[in-house]
Amino acid sequence: MSTILLEVATPDKGDVYKNGIVMLITRSIVGDLGILPKHARLLTELIPHAMRIKEGGTETQLFVSGGFMEVTPDKITILADSAENPDEIDTERAREAYKRAKERVDAFKSAPKSHEDIDIERAEASLARAKARLLVKGENVA
Ligand code: ATP
Repeated sequence: MSTILLEVATPDKGDVYKNGIVMLITRSIVGDLGILPKHARLLTELIPHAMRIKEGGTETQLFVSGGFMEVTPDKITILADSAENPDEIDTERAREAYKRAKERVDAFKSAPKSHEDIDIERAEASLARAKARLLVKGENVA
């Protein structure tokens, strides 16, 4: 079976994943991408989501918080701000992060002028990370 090397690294942990895989399904700023061996060269930015990694007969998930992906015909390199296997995700911590971020985003949206202290881009990015982590753990939040 034809494979492509996938390497995912973060500044904190170094290599989080390194293996020959059959297919990667990932989410970039321009939409979902399916990457197979011999894919055309590509450089793109990822958004927070759970990547789907097909390794022969099995499929695993890996949360990435966003970062950069470079694809060549035989290698996919992802440099992510953070990345976690499903069993590394602390659900309670993600719920707390979700609650904090959602309160900030809702407060800002209901009255932007009286919440100029809220960094809305930061709050929205935090919300997106928490939602993606919870989705990996089977919790689908709005
Ligand atoms: P929090 O507000 O809870 O820190 P965050 O989205 O701001 O969440 P990140 O900046 O994405 O956190 O990650 C900081 C570090 O903490 C990374 O090493 C990341 O892997 C880890 N991390 C963050 N949230 C979780 C979680 N729910 N479970 C496990 N590790 C986590």
